[in-house]
Amino acid sequence: MNTFQDLGLQDNLLQAINDLGFTKPSEVQDKAIPILLNSETDLVALAQTGTGKTAAFGFPMLQKINMDSRTTQGLILSPTRELCLQITNEMKLYGKYCKGLNVVAIYGGASITEQAREVKRGAQIIVATPGRMKDMISRRLVDISKIEYSVLDEADEMLNMGFYEDITSILSHTPDDKSTWLFSATMPKEVAAIAKKFMYDPEEITVGQKNVGSKNVSHEYYLVNSRDRYQALKRLADANPDIFSVVFCRTKRDTQKVAEQLIEDGYNAGALHGDLSQNQRDLVMKSFRNKQIQMLVATDVAARGIDVDDITHVINYQLPDEIETYTHRSGRTGRAGKTGVSMVIVSKSEVRKIKSIERIIKKQFVKKDIPDGTMICEIQLMSLANKVHNTEINHEIDKHLISINELFEDTSKDELIKKFFSVEFTRFYNYYQKARNLNVSDNGRDESSSSSTRYFINVGRKDGYDWMSLKDFLREVLELGKDDVFKVETKDSFSFFNTEPEHQQKVLDFFTDFKYNGRYVNVEISENRSRNRKRDGRRGGGKRDDKRSDKHSGSRRNSSKRSNKKVKRSNSGNFGASRPRRSRR
Ligand code: AMP
Repeated sequence: MNTFQDLGLQDNLLQAINDLGFTKPSEVQDKAIPILLNSETDLVALAQTGTGKTAAFGFPMLQKINMDSRTTQGLILSPTRELCLQITNEMKLYGKYCKGLNVVAIYGGASITEQAREVKRGAQIIVATPGRMKDMISRRLVDISKIEYSVLDEADEMLNMGFYEDITSILSHTPDDKSTWLFSATMPKEVAAIAKKFMYDPEEITVGQKNVGSKNVSHEYYLVNSRDRYQALKRLADANPDIFSVVFCRTKRDTQKVAEQLIEDGYNAGALHGDLSQNQRDLVMKSFRNKQIQMLVATDVAARGIDVDDITHVINYQLPDEIETYTHRSGRTGRAGKTGVSMVIVSKSEVRKIKSIERIIKKQFVKKDIPDGTMICEIQLMSLANKVHNTEINHEIDKHLISINELFEDTSKDELIKKFFSVEFTRFYNYYQKARNLNVSDNGRDESSSSSTRYFINVGRKDGYDWMSLKDFLREVLELGKDDVFKVETKDSFSFFNTEPEHQQKVLDFFTDFKYNGRYVNVEISENRSRNRKRDGRRGGGKRDDKRSDKHSGSRRNSSKRSNKKVKRSNSGNFGASRPRRSRR
């Protein structure tokens, strides 16, 4: 392997490399830098983010442009504002000993006048997002008619984001004899088409295999019921106490919802999606970078700019619509020589997609089980023990030591340790004590439902409920958490639902003598699920329901108790919902 000196870089750049602590070139640098320094060629480089590709095009560009001229000679197009700023910063660091260098970032969501002013001061290199760049060209605020080097960074992502037209328009304002360097993690046909249209006989280099994810990333999938997706996510987080992750959702709505739920449940989480203002997005990214946020819940588009090196886990809360996108997602971890894990939470209907992804990434997934409560408690306890062990002592405590010692005079060391750990641990233990098995076995059997309790309730669609509104109603009146009522099935005049056995007594007690809109609502324990199916059929007609109503309209006791349980009805025909807060995670 070459050293940076071997690649032919000048002293002022080597000095910057030394300051940055880069000891040897990465693969893409080793391959690209000599080509770009020694010829005026076009280049197509297939390389993931995190491979050091910014330096692979950055150093040659810095060495080749004329710092004495104020003309714009280099243009770097990148898909997002975050990435644009990241590249600008890196270029400034790489060029810190290049006298006279001015690198300017051009991106949407910030003052165009200010950016124009910076360009006017003489920017040899412009790093831009396509939308704002096109805008500035049309307003004649930049001149790129003399550029010698153009870089299309993360070309596949720019095309995914619909920038084809903008890129074409921008490049039409550049000279034909410039060199174009295209960097892309994947090579879909759209990128190949761009290369063909804008480049002349390009050199090609590939780092790793085409379209293949980083070798530092291992891939795992967890098969659960759709309704357990969120619970599964929480367990994965709890089983990895030092997690620093991006959680991918398919829609902005889900992204916001999952982030809110995580925050409500006590996790350090934040949402990143297109409905947030630029300011909000910047704040979230800032918190993520300095690790105040451990779980960044993001959409694919919003996550494109995330360029953080030490992400430990990528969690696919839902798989992307386009399975190629998985490569981008998993590429957020395992960067800069570190290892990472890409986890996928799948339901039975999606599990076949795993095979298709394996074909694309040319790697096998490992099927893993969502850890059970005991395992998580053990992990959390040991993590806490390690944290305590590694904690630096705060000597402010010294002056209180005498009184503390007095308090624990009769407490043995073991007892003291147990008490100390119980402060934190008991919360976890209580929560996970009766935790269900969330896994669905390979043969599709739901391992989670066998122990739950199934109920019959004599309200159904005729009463204005669908499964969602009935679930909301039950959760509300029973004051249960959002995942505590599940498998809600509404029929015409009756319905079924499940809870964990621990809630059984509460449910039955609550619905004893429960009256709603002048009618008694009856809840009974039903038989297990497989038998329910048959019974569901039998109950299709109104007969049995009528019988049940008759029963309720007959002898009722405890009328004073009943009145306490009358609940206000909301406009939708359901009960107004103030969400019960979980007391803990
Ligand atoms: P990139 O692929 O350009 O986003 O780079 C990923 C990260 O690797 C950045 O934080 C760079 O500063 C860092 N990096 C780039 N080249 C090297 C190198 N040769 N040795 C160590 N780190 C590097």
